[in-house]
Amino acid sequence: MIEFNAVSKIYGTQKALNNVSFKLESGDMAFLTGHSGAGKSTLLKLIMLIERPTQGEVLVGQQNLAKMPRRHIPLLRRNIGFVHQSHQLLFDRNVFDNVALPLRVVGYHPRDIARRARAALDKVGLLDKEKLNPSVLSGGEQQRVGIARAVVNKPPFLLADEPTGNLDPDLSAEIMNLFESFNAVGVTVLIATHDLALIAKMPHRSLILRHGQLIGQQSQSNFEQNSDEAFNSEVADALKANTDAID
Ligand code: ADP
Ligand code: MG
Repeated sequence: MIEFNAVSKIYGTQKALNNVSFKLESGDMAFLTGHSGAGKSTLLKLIMLIERPTQGEVLVGQQNLAKMPRRHIPLLRRNIGFVHQSHQLLFDRNVFDNVALPLRVVGYHPRDIARRARAALDKVGLLDKEKLNPSVLSGGEQQRVGIARAVVNKPPFLLADEPTGNLDPDLSAEIMNLFESFNAVGVTVLIATHDLALIAKMPHRSLILRHGQLIGQQSQSNFEQNSDEAFNSEVADALKANTDAID
């Protein structure tokens, strides 16, 4: 479970998030959308405790992050797989060693490292590329290695910040299907994206941010059915603003 209660984050004079409240139940999958600068990355950083809220509370798996002792932060981050827009792989080692890295940091036995890293590579369909240097892989494959590395600890939460930002539509759909496959086995998934065409085809809830405020949180199909005209036009404006930001 991830819960935000009246969360604001202010950087200097910039209100990156303004009074944001939502709840993502365990096992849910949702998108976080909004134009560039709307606050998506900030929201994800609060969940990872990379940043702390100026006001309000953030709960991850029942735990109030404000009350979390500093020494528990590494444990929190181990429970949250994070996928970046650019894969952030290391080109001085092969695919297997990139995926194994988080396990080595934790200090697992080499036998367990090998088993877990191969299981993660298998899930993203790249077991046969484990010995290659990531530099020879395609963009889509590199992103899949990044996802394998994010899930190798079997985290209950998986967050992604614009994971398809550098990919063409077909590859983007493939990556989203991969996130769905982790969600199907119980992982709670939250993906920041402004790829509206892609998320329109998927049945998951979208949290829509605009200038740091959460202005909607419904499934795509519900947008059309919502009888609240004011709400509908808000959402339509936000979606248009997103599209403008992409153009
Ligand atoms: P998004 O990911 O939706 O593009 P961000 O969360 O990165 O949006 O940014 C939200 C707002 O907060 C923007 O106006 C951005 O300039 C500002 N911001 C983000 N991080 C910082 C920071 N470290 N210092 C100052 N302003 C920041
Ligand atoms: Mg961002």
